[in-house]
Amino acid sequence: MVWDKLAQYIAIATTEWLDWLGIFGEAIARNFLTPNTLDDRFFTLLTFIHIVAPLLLLLVLWIHLQRVTKPRINPKRGLAAGTFLMLVALSFVKPAVSHPPADLAVVPDVLKLDWFYLSAYPLMDHFSNGAVWAFGGVLTFMLFALPWLPPVRRPAAAVVDLNNCNGCERCANDCPFNAIVMRQRSDALPFEQEATVDASLCVGCGICAGSCPTSTPFRRASELIPGIDLPDRSLRAVRDEVEAAAAGLSGESRVIVFGCDHAVPASRLASSGIGTVSLPCIAALPPSFIDYVLSRDLADGVVITGCRDGECFNRYGVDWTKARLAGERDPYLRKRVPRERILTCWAAGADRAALEKQVEVFRATLSALPSPDEDGPNA
Ligand code: SF4
Ligand code: SF4
Repeated sequence: MVWDKLAQYIAIATTEWLDWLGIFGEAIARNFLTPNTLDDRFFTLLTFIHIVAPLLLLLVLWIHLQRVTKPRINPKRGLAAGTFLMLVALSFVKPAVSHPPADLAVVPDVLKLDWFYLSAYPLMDHFSNGAVWAFGGVLTFMLFALPWLPPVRRPAAAVVDLNNCNGCERCANDCPFNAIVMRQRSDALPFEQEATVDASLCVGCGICAGSCPTSTPFRRASELIPGIDLPDRSLRAVRDEVEAAAAGLSGESRVIVFGCDHAVPASRLASSGIGTVSLPCIAALPPSFIDYVLSRDLADGVVITGCRDGECFNRYGVDWTKARLAGERDPYLRKRVPRERILTCWAAGADRAALEKQVEVFRATLSALPSPDEDGPNA
């Protein structure tokens, strides 16, 4: 029978493969010759392996998590509950049943294979056992080394300007990649700490620049140089882009869209009434930029868009932005900023049509609002 042959093939292939290592005292296949040759030590060994393997995985997971702050281990409750219910339902529809107790004197006539674990076996037909071990070893090593492999393109790391850093720690608290460490002050300014960036951990998301209290576009007396900034796309350059985008707007309901490079491309929304500015992460935008656009009448409304909720490319960009706009996390959006002139929309690339529709509806509501001069005193 086909299954008998398959079972024998698997048993022989497995034992031959393991025996190639030469670390076992005798051929492993002998263990399976009769029920008497299979003793408790074999099952003790299996139990040991099943405990050690997850512990090793836990160690690898721990090493990997050292590179990020506030790691999310558990999925959101809704997702966890939905997955649990789906698995329960699946277990009734297609239960995973065990084989009957093993009897080494009988060749099983049905053997349910797990192709996930046995997928390397066909390779043994074409290559030597040693080559398959080497392949498995290299693959395992590469997976193990993944956290240390260099990225395809390393973006420029954030740079601290000590003359503008007061050591408030906001950037260190907001950096999702553990790239900022607060150290003892190294200059003569009267602050205890200063921010330092580990360039090997920085991904260039700019979230730190968005969190720095000195990142305000209203600065005119001195240059807009925040305590921490991205060297290749500074906030000063972003302010220039905003002003240029606003200068090109015409018609009613002028809108500036601040987007994220990893979500719906903001430039796709551009039109005569919509100016766009894209950032490496939406949390790289200090909330004061929204105030700046509206209070300087650069536009009638502001759209803030980034990755879908829970899918932020830079881990916490969407969360921090929401908290800043809600006044729950520094730097807050000032109370005086009219909230009815701000639209937030979290959308992945596939949601572009929905985003466009929301922006159009938003522009229609803007045109129905009284002009800012008639809005009354600011809160
Ligand atoms: S947020 Fe700005 S001022 Fe505060 S520690 Fe970081 S760089 Fe310095
Ligand atoms: S750019 Fe992003 S990763 Fe780099 S230090 Fe700032 S917050 Fe951290």
